[in-house]
Amino acid sequence: MKKLLNTSHLIDQLKQNVKVTGARLADRHLNLAVTGLSGSGKTAFITSIVNQLLEANDSAELPFFSVVREERLFGVKREAQPNLSLRRFAYENAMQALNGAPPVWPESTTGISQVRLHIRYRKDKGISRYISEDTKLTLDITDYPGEWLLDLPLLDMDYLAWSAHCESELQAAERQALSAEFLLAREALELTAPGDELALKHIASLYTDYLHKCRAAGFQLLQPGRFILPGELAGAPVLDFFPLSEEQVAQVKQNRGPKGSNQALLFNRYEHYQEQVVKPFYVDHFKRFDRQVVLVDCLSALNNGRAHFDDLQRALNWLLTSFEYGKTNLLSRLFTPKIDKLIFAASKADHVTPDQQSNLVKLLDSMLHNARKQMQFDGVSTESTAIAAIRASQAGRTEHKGQDIQVLQGTGADGKVIRLFPGDVPAKCPDSSFWDQQGFDFPHFSPPSRDENQALPHIRMDRVLEFILGDKIR
Ligand code: GDP
Repeated sequence: MKKLLNTSHLIDQLKQNVKVTGARLADRHLNLAVTGLSGSGKTAFITSIVNQLLEANDSAELPFFSVVREERLFGVKREAQPNLSLRRFAYENAMQALNGAPPVWPESTTGISQVRLHIRYRKDKGISRYISEDTKLTLDITDYPGEWLLDLPLLDMDYLAWSAHCESELQAAERQALSAEFLLAREALELTAPGDELALKHIASLYTDYLHKCRAAGFQLLQPGRFILPGELAGAPVLDFFPLSEEQVAQVKQNRGPKGSNQALLFNRYEHYQEQVVKPFYVDHFKRFDRQVVLVDCLSALNNGRAHFDDLQRALNWLLTSFEYGKTNLLSRLFTPKIDKLIFAASKADHVTPDQQSNLVKLLDSMLHNARKQMQFDGVSTESTAIAAIRASQAGRTEHKGQDIQVLQGTGADGKVIRLFPGDVPAKCPDSSFWDQQGFDFPHFSPPSRDENQALPHIRMDRVLEFILGDKIR
């Protein structure tokens, strides 16, 4: 009897030890980052992820999310903000907007923000399946503007090289009208004259206006990233610089100018921006991300025409340098990035009929490939998909010129029902014939009306959840 007692005591002890060790070894924390250029759908995406997880066991439809399908999810809870110096992602405000009558799209986030969730689940394999009923994963989701990633290549360029790079954008035919005021003011600046902070501030504000006008016109390659989305830096002198013209660059190369001159101030601010704004984002935040979602709004670019589409490709090219972890990569010189999974998602896929969604993924892949012919995601598993964080349309069928075709139905901004076939999505970056007879046009749908106890309708968010979290909650 005594021997039996001892044995069961030993087993209990062993179980306890394994449980403690298991808890220590278990991967209980995941930093997920979500980015994309302005308007790509980050706010809608994070709102939907949080909503799907909170509603996972009730009204959410997540057939491809294994922990739900296998009935291993016990519950998901929002927790207090982990990083007290970061803004809290405004989930409640976003849901309030989406639950309104009529529902409206939530206001877009403009800087970095964060939300923490605790996920309780049961493991499906390994020894802990027997000894621990309840395992916890802390998920921190960080939202940050893709525009900030456009700044990484600046670390590899001095002020003059950056100015030369900007000149081609400034002189591009479709942007010239937007930059006229800035170009005039810049020309009048005397570079070697004693530093005039107010004059520099004025010209920098005209440069910022130019970037805002570009954004309003649908362009995405806007640099420096913080000029458009300054966050806590709004109004700070570190943002009071601008690119020099070709003649000015040549002039500076000949004569570096006296200390305290306008050009000396401009150099100083550019270098400060590199060191105190660009680098800290990578060192303080980017370095900590485990997994990354990059949202790309290919459809708006297609809708807006060739110049915008080409511009998005150039912007993606810059943005992708942050995920290219080759040996000579800029980031590798700063630190070793941790990201092990990277998902590119073409957003707002509810703007095209279901039969066009595979083309949308192919188009995204082709844009990424064109942007970076040879991407080296060393050790990073990547995936491309097409999603709608919040599905605002319903697919149906109709007869058109004797043919049975798929159509979409949604509600327009005026509350009226829209029924249409938005057009074929090209399966690769389109050539000039596509732009000559562009047949792609989609309207702006209002968010769906629904019972507020129901999870947000979506397209493929369950697959995204599985890719990001599946292996961590197995
Ligand atoms: P952010 O600037 O990247 O945060 O972009 P938002 O999430 O604010 O999205 C910008 C706009 O795109 C929204 O106001 C919506 O009009 C639209 N949008 C975003 N996600 C979706 C989606 O899943 N479906 C549809 N139909 N529209 C979307």
